[in-house]
Amino acid sequence: MGFKSRAKKLKHAADAARPAKEDSGDDNKGVTPCDVKGCKNWADKSMGGRRLAFDRAADVWGEDGLASDGRRLSVCKPCYREWKKAKKDDPDEWS
Ligand SMILES: [Zn+2]
Repeated sequence: MGFKSRAKKLKHAADAARPAKEDSGDDNKGVTPCDVKGCKNWADKSMGGRRLAFDRAADVWGEDGLASDGRRLSVCKPCYREWKKAKKDDPDEWS
C-alpha cells in the first residue's frame, strides 16, 4: 500500500519538475537573425526581412560586414532599406 501511493507521488513530482513552456507572449522574437554583422534585428519575412544574394549584399557591406557566407543572406527591414539606398546610385540594379 505504501509503495503504490509513493509511486503516485513521484509521478506527480516529475510533472511538476517539467520546465514550464516559455510563454512570455513576446511577439518581437523572430527565428531568422539578420546576417549583417553587428545587427541584432530579426530578418523574418513576417517582420519585413528580405533575402539577398551574398554578392549583392557584399557590394554594400563588404564580405567582412556580413555574418554569414551563405549564398543567400537574410537581412532585416532596416538593413534592406540601407542596402536599397546604397544601390540607388547603381543603375545596374534598376533595370
Ligand atoms: Zn539588419
